[in-house]
Amino acid sequence: MFNKPHFTGNETQYIKNAVLNTKISGDGMYTKLCHEFFEKNYHFKKCLLTTSCTDAIEMAAILAEVKQGDEIIAPSYTFVSTINPFILRGAAIRFVDSRADQPNIDEDEIEKNITANTKAIVVVHYAGVACNMNKIKQLAEKYNLIIIEDAAQAIDSYYLNEPLGGIGHFGAFSFHETKNIISGEGGLITINDEKYIERAEIIREKGTNRSKFFRGEIDKYSWVDIGSSFLPSDIIAAFLFAQIENLKDIQTKRISIWNKYYEGMKQLPYLYNVKLPFIPLYATNNAHMFYLVCNSLAERQALIIYCKAAGVHLVFHYQSLHSSTYFTGKYMGKELLNADRFSECLVRLPFYYDLNENDQDQVINTIISFYKQYK
Ligand SMILES: *Cc1c(COP(=O)(O)O)cnc(C)c1O
Repeated sequence: MFNKPHFTGNETQYIKNAVLNTKISGDGMYTKLCHEFFEKNYHFKKCLLTTSCTDAIEMAAILAEVKQGDEIIAPSYTFVSTINPFILRGAAIRFVDSRADQPNIDEDEIEKNITANTKAIVVVHYAGVACNMNKIKQLAEKYNLIIIEDAAQAIDSYYLNEPLGGIGHFGAFSFHETKNIISGEGGLITINDEKYIERAEIIREKGTNRSKFFRGEIDKYSWVDIGSSFLPSDIIAAFLFAQIENLKDIQTKRISIWNKYYEGMKQLPYLYNVKLPFIPLYATNNAHMFYLVCNSLAERQALIIYCKAAGVHLVFHYQSLHSSTYFTGKYMGKELLNADRFSECLVRLPFYYDLNENDQDQVINTIISFYKQYK
């Protein structure tokens, strides 16, 4: 098994409450509780639940007024949802390579990709580990760019003392069942610059000022802007709230799983040149994921096959987007060697709350015995 959603116990009760409240559309009691939690705990200026992280990034793209002719700077080694919202709005993507030591965008490669048409920098905090945000913020200020953080994997993680998702103009989180806290499908947009808040509420509510109406600030609502339906049912929020209440416990458990992997694997870099996750001093580890970076595609394939035979399920991750099927023939930039290397060599280990110590020992022992015999 590679991933198994963890249920904290109160999910079904809260869903039942949401149903009994007879307020099962968006922005009910549980949605408000979730918003409050994120705003209080992480001091995000404004939080709005969305139906997914993909939708949160789409909202950010609309709020940033991305349009045809604009250019967006983004890493190539990421999920399609980091990019799609900008393509949908007609923008062109300038793909930037990953750092050599980990998959995050190489902050030193950004400036040479900035042109007069650049509108925004999208960063992805891969595995919940922060990008080098001071450097990126300096560039955004110098060239007047918007920063969007794809913080899908980055709940409860920090850059220096700042929570990820709260540093750029916008942040986007995912509560997909593969993330640390979940609601099946689900997401959150953070709006960290006051001037976008009012419009964010409108865009999320199909271009209407219904949010203001529900707060009693106006006596009828109407169509005032473009928009779509980005808000989830309160049933989803009820599920999420049960998870949020157990965030500390979930994080403690995940960090102990992560540490056990790290401890168990720490000879691999010295003996076999296999890389373990690198966490820069400015970043915290939210234990979203544990991965290894093999020496070659062939080595990774052999490792996956060997582990599979022993009942251990390892999986690789993203294909660099600049070499995806969609981008074939469209990408005109230079080779992105680190992104391609992570595409070919990175492998993820089983990682979920209910992973027990015996199973984890089996994963560690199988990987080590693979390397003992691999030439
Ligand atoms: C999971 C993930 C997404 C997509 O999240 P959804 O909630 O499924 O839309 C986007 N970006 C990254 C980096 C992710 O890991």
